[in-house]
Amino acid sequence: MNTRIKNILVTGGAGFIGSHLVDALLAAGHRVTVLDNFSSGSRENLQKHADLMVIKADIAQPLPASIIKTKWELIYNLASPASPKYYGAYPEETLLVGSLGVKNVLALVKGKTRFVHTSTSEVYGDPLEHPQKESYWGNVNSYGPRSCYDEAKRFAEALIYTVRRKRNLNTGIVRIFNTYGPRMDQTDGRVVANFITQALKGAPLTIYGDGTQTRSFCYVDDMVRALVAMGTSDAEGPINLGNPGEFTMNALAELVKKTVKEVRVTYKPLPAEDPSQRKPDITRAQKTLRWKPTISLKVGLEKTALWYKNQTVRVTHRITK
Ligand code: UDP
Repeated sequence: MNTRIKNILVTGGAGFIGSHLVDALLAAGHRVTVLDNFSSGSRENLQKHADLMVIKADIAQPLPASIIKTKWELIYNLASPASPKYYGAYPEETLLVGSLGVKNVLALVKGKTRFVHTSTSEVYGDPLEHPQKESYWGNVNSYGPRSCYDEAKRFAEALIYTVRRKRNLNTGIVRIFNTYGPRMDQTDGRVVANFITQALKGAPLTIYGDGTQTRSFCYVDDMVRALVAMGTSDAEGPINLGNPGEFTMNALAELVKKTVKEVRVTYKPLPAEDPSQRKPDITRAQKTLRWKPTISLKVGLEKTALWYKNQTVRVTHRITK
C-alpha cells in the first residue's frame, strides 16, 4: 500500500490481531477508524495518533450514522471473540457477531470498497484432512461447544460469497490459524498465553489431555504482513494464513520451558471436541500474496514472554456469565 488511504475501517481493531494491524496501517501513513465494543479488545492496545479515530460500537447492532455515511476504501472485519474460553462464555453474542454483524459491515461495502474478512481455521473443525487446504470442507459439529464460533464463521463465509456474487463486490476472505504475540490477553485461556504466564510465575504448565494434539502457531507480525497484503490484493480467497510449523502441546511446553523458564508440567482433562490436529497448507497465500511467515516459534515465544514480563496482568475479558 504505497499511496495514502484516507478511509480504512477496522472492526475489532482494539483486539489482539486488530490492534497490530492498525499499528501497521498507521505506520504506512494511512488514516484508520476503529470500531470495537471492547468486549474482548482494549483501548490500551491502541496508540494515540492523529490519523486514528476510535468508536465504541457493536457491529451486531445498527451501526453509527457516521460510519454508514462514510465512503470506505478498505474495510477489515476482525470483530469477534476468538478464544474458546471467551466464545464459550458468550455463545449467542458470538453467533450474532458472525451473522448480523457481518451483514451490517457488508452493507458498508459499496462500489470500489475492498473488504477483507477474517475467517478461521475453525471452519475445518476437527479436520480429517491434514494439512488443511482451502478446498477441504471441514468436519464440524453444528451443536457442540465450539459450534457458536465455527458455524458463525462458516455462515459469514457463505453470506460474503452470496453478497459478492449478487452485488459484484471486491471481497476477500482469509482463514486465520492460531496466532500469538504481544497483547494476546493473558487471561483468555489460550495455550501460548497460559504457558508463558505460568512459566513466568514459576507455576506448572497445564497440558490438556495427553498433549499429543497439534497446532501451528504464527507470530502476530507475520500475520499482520499477510493482512496488509490482502488489503491491496483483489484475491477473493479463501486463503489460509498461518505458520505451517506443527507442534504437539507437549513439544510447545518443552519449548516454553527452554525459552522462558524450566517449570513442571501438569496434565488436565481435554476440553470436549478439542481438535486433534491443525496445520495450514499455505501454498495459496504464498502464490497469491507472495507471503510466508518468517518468525520461528522459539523467537516468537521469546518476544512474547519479554512483553508479558513488562506487563501487569490485565483482564480485558470481563467474563461475567
Ligand atoms: N491447551 C493446553 N493447555 C492450556 C490451554 C490450551 O494444553 O492451558 C490446549 C488445548 O486443549 C488445545 C490447544 O492447546 O488443544 C490450543 O488451544 P487454544 O485454546 O490456544 O486454541 P484452539 O486452537 O483450541 O482454538
